[in-house]
Amino acid sequence: MYYSSLQNQSPSVDFRTATIQGQAPDGGLYFPEQIPQLPKATIEQLPSLSREEIAYQVIQPFVGDSIPESKLREIVTETINFPIPLKQVHDQYYSLELFHGPTLAFKDIGARFMSRCLGYFAQEKKEPVTVLVATSGDTGGAVASGFHNVEGVRVVILYPSGKVSSVQEKQLTTFGDNIQALEVQGNFDDCQQMVKQAFKDPELTRAIFLTSANSINVARWLPQQFYYFFALQQWKELKPPVICVPSGNFGNICAGLMAWKAGLPVAHFIAACNANDVVPRFLETGAYHPQPAIPTISNAMDVGNPSNFTRILEIFQQNTDALKRLLSSSRTTDEKTRDLIRSVYRQHSYLLDPHGAVAYDALQQYLNKHPEQKGILLETAHPIKFLDVVEPIIETPIPVPDSIAETLTKTKKAYLIGKNYEELKAYLLNSNPF
Ligand SMILES: *Cc1c(COP(=O)(O)O)cnc(C)c1O
Repeated sequence: MYYSSLQNQSPSVDFRTATIQGQAPDGGLYFPEQIPQLPKATIEQLPSLSREEIAYQVIQPFVGDSIPESKLREIVTETINFPIPLKQVHDQYYSLELFHGPTLAFKDIGARFMSRCLGYFAQEKKEPVTVLVATSGDTGGAVASGFHNVEGVRVVILYPSGKVSSVQEKQLTTFGDNIQALEVQGNFDDCQQMVKQAFKDPELTRAIFLTSANSINVARWLPQQFYYFFALQQWKELKPPVICVPSGNFGNICAGLMAWKAGLPVAHFIAACNANDVVPRFLETGAYHPQPAIPTISNAMDVGNPSNFTRILEIFQQNTDALKRLLSSSRTTDEKTRDLIRSVYRQHSYLLDPHGAVAYDALQQYLNKHPEQKGILLETAHPIKFLDVVEPIIETPIPVPDSIAETLTKTKKAYLIGKNYEELKAYLLNSNPF
């Protein structure tokens, strides 16, 4: 399998190179040159196959020769070693719970898969790799957890001092071992700027093998297809479901559309957005206007220019009419999000997090118009991650899951630096454990 850049100015590469590079040299996103079709028999037999077998069959064509079968099976098994249950909320509403992984959010799957692939490539090359990543909160935790103790890889995470939640900070700073946290006296943009400068510094990139764990990396994006296959594996209804995905950078829903393209039966997709509504506007008016991100209570979706949208257009070969037949998109206010967290909890004893609540609203809007359909919303985070928002709404404390309780008792270990590239460079060169 080869990947080409959507900017068309870089040579095609295999899965290994696409994973190591992250982004193509011309600044474009990598996209597979074909979308492999899954055998009909596999799709029909989903309920009787193991999750490991499904995941392997889905991802193998994308990986090609870059990783041998036995290693890839091992990677897949470690990636999905937690439950992903489909639960009925009430009537025709179902929830696929993606928050049972180590950092209680769906980014765990992509981070776990990518970290293990990179670990394999680093070992094969016999050259240790440094993963450099800037985070505004959630991504850093998933990346840290995914890479913890992966041999041959060290992870350096930059986060803005005082600007991540206390749970998030603990998730970034308490692993130790091969995970190094840099607390930057600046904001997220400063962190991101410093990371970008590092990748452009030839002296640094000659001295150490540097890579990113950006969400646009194919090794983070493609394994998200697993969710959709696992949803259908557990689907007992006769007709294919409508699937509703809370969307920010549109990586997750783009993976869902890839799964559909590979042959998975899905009636319709909905991209649920908060006030950041570039895509709903595009589908209504045909005009794509990126905007600065607007802060909301579903903050992992506060994205003003979703980077994966170009991949979605590519799946449909720029045919927006075909796209609109399969995908619709809606927007939700914070007020509506709060109302739904409260009412779904009271009426159906199901606790949504703010991102899941945005998806519930979008699904409700759609099912009201299509009452003969049944739908699945993707619940992308555990409500405890947003307890400051959720607890006042339901006026009840949320029980703390064991996995987080342990993290909260650990001691923070972070190295404080200024918003200054030279400080970052010195740290990268001098504190290399290899
Ligand atoms: C990242 C994230 C999203 C948005 O996913 P995209 O793939 O960026 O669209 C939604 N919910 C949660 C909890 C997230 O962390």
